[in-house]
Amino acid sequence: MLTKNRDNKKTALAVVAHPDDVEFICAGTLALLKEKGWNIELATMTAGDCGSRECSSEEISKIRKNEAAKAAKLIDAGYHCLECKDIFLMYDEPSLIKIISLIRKTKPTLVLTMSPSCYMVDHETTSRLVQTACFAAGIVNIEIENSVPYFFIPYLYYLDPMEGKDKFGEDIYASTIVDISTVMDIKEKMLKCHKSQRDWLSAHHGIDKYVQTMKKLSEKRGSEISAKYAEGFRQHLGHSYPQENILKQELSDLVVVKNNKVSNSKKI
Ligand SMILES: [Zn+2]
Repeated sequence: MLTKNRDNKKTALAVVAHPDDVEFICAGTLALLKEKGWNIELATMTAGDCGSRECSSEEISKIRKNEAAKAAKLIDAGYHCLECKDIFLMYDEPSLIKIISLIRKTKPTLVLTMSPSCYMVDHETTSRLVQTACFAAGIVNIEIENSVPYFFIPYLYYLDPMEGKDKFGEDIYASTIVDISTVMDIKEKMLKCHKSQRDWLSAHHGIDKYVQTMKKLSEKRGSEISAKYAEGFRQHLGHSYPQENILKQELSDLVVVKNNKVSNSKKI
């Protein structure tokens, strides 16, 4: 039986590294779950404090948290910032406590997080932190003030890495691909809320086509399932985590499940 939150709705929690990661990679799937009546919660490990050449870290953090909250509102989602620092995100006790507390508070059925292999260590560290926090939220001996154990390991999925490739440039396969064509307009609107990043990426990465970059990855996954736009996921199927494909169960015809044993794709 699936765990539901206080309002008797199933909850999907996305924990990503930075403001705009959700909007680049998984906002379409979250919008579809919202349409199905799910409660959606979005969390970023940092406030994106290094994402500016003009503003101080305090100034840009404030701007980016507002942008993230505005984007979340478009799918009626809650937004949480765990207040870690860009670049200095650590796999350590304080970071784990923050995520465990969030899981205990939001009681997710489903958790989405960053790819374990990606171009940026903040992304990879978030992935490891969330994997552990999902497992640890129900451990009673982890005592946290104002927090009670959550006795359910959520379904856990990893998002596509940026551009669908790992740090060696090799394609990462997706085992669950969701057709998001009908909600691309919402995904695009959410990404456009991150105005400060659109400007900064243009200066720092030479990417002045913010929205086009997001659409390109969505088109790449879409081409694998004959859809205009799609998002890819890999499910955590290690010991003790739920094994059923809840995305397939919930979004049925919009989801194509692929064989994990794709010989010419990288799997780490
Ligand atoms: Zn990021």
